Amino acid sequence: MSGITITGLSVFTVAIPVKTVRRQGSGDVSDKAGVVIVKIDTDAGITGWGEAAPWPVFTGTAEACVGALHVHLRPLLIGADPFRIEWLMAGAEKTVVHATEAKAAMEMALFDIMGKALKTPVYNLLGGAYRSEIPLSFSIANPDIDADIEIAKELCATGHRIFKVKTGFAGHAEDIRRLEKLRTELPGDVDIRVDYNQGMDVFDAIIKLRDIEAFNPTFIEQPVPMDKVEALAEITRALDTPVMADETVFSPSQALNVAARRVVDLISIKVFKSGGMLRGKEIAAIADAAGISCYGGSMFETGIAHLAGTHMIAATRNFPLGCEFYQAVYYLKEDLLAEPYPAKGGKVTVPDGPGLGIDVDEDRLAKYTVERFD
Ligand SMILES: [Mg+2]
Repeated sequence: MSGITITGLSVFTVAIPVKTVRRQGSGDVSDKAGVVIVKIDTDAGITGWGEAAPWPVFTGTAEACVGALHVHLRPLLIGADPFRIEWLMAGAEKTVVHATEAKAAMEMALFDIMGKALKTPVYNLLGGAYRSEIPLSFSIANPDIDADIEIAKELCATGHRIFKVKTGFAGHAEDIRRLEKLRTELPGDVDIRVDYNQGMDVFDAIIKLRDIEAFNPTFIEQPVPMDKVEALAEITRALDTPVMADETVFSPSQALNVAARRVVDLISIKVFKSGGMLRGKEIAAIADAAGISCYGGSMFETGIAHLAGTHMIAATRNFPLGCEFYQAVYYLKEDLLAEPYPAKGGKVTVPDGPGLGIDVDEDRLAKYTVERFD
């Protein structure tokens, strides 16, 4: 028990203009990225920040996320001790089904408060620093590949070497053309990864992926729809290239099923799928037991959620494949953090400040807020 009490919860829906269109196997994002920001106040004068980045085709809608936090989780939080994170997260599970983005946002704000109160970074509350830097991947997802290649070349000049290409939305011939261009135009030592976002049909996935393997990708992510688990296992067995589950693994129990049958070689862990950093670490541990390596995935999020992912990966050994926390710096026209999220030169430097390490710029939050719920 901390002697600190939660006194307030504010939920903001926010829309931030983006620099370029992102096209994925499962849907587009253009114009603006919509996120839900959570602010938890305490009687100690300490404020914690959290974020949800719901996407209707993946994790859920912003409306459901706001309802979960503002209506259903509010009574659990107000009056509670913010240090009782395990107990509060168990309470959240019993209060609202699914709503993993809302639960992740709540957990981030609680850890931010705890870290600030104890004057220590969140990674110290999650096992301590296993690493202080995380290799950064940038996603090639613009339907205009030349526009993204220009950005990729600029990034390469700063030392950046990992790129994840979004495939499966414009046909197999176009995917091959995009990969050929990337392999021709980027330096020979770049690490190229491929993400289908469930964009393939099952029946001809293996024959098409054998063509993709010719480009020597480091991994192939979520080729087929999330519920096609048997097909994913067949693809993993058929290919030499490691296969990664993203949409197929949200929860620790799904990770257990996939790990026990070794359906994939790799799992992308996102705090918005698992419902927070603690459950993300559970998935990493389950994967580890099966020899499955993990990667830090992301949604269309601001630096607040990036920080949560950063602390989770900093404190967890089984993340050898880096992260894709690029949006706050390279995709949003403006971020909500008071100082820039520390992604530079192809890596993220884990921040050492108390709590999540960087606070929110409340003027900028107000500028992009669409609606606020107190
Ligand atoms: Mg993915």
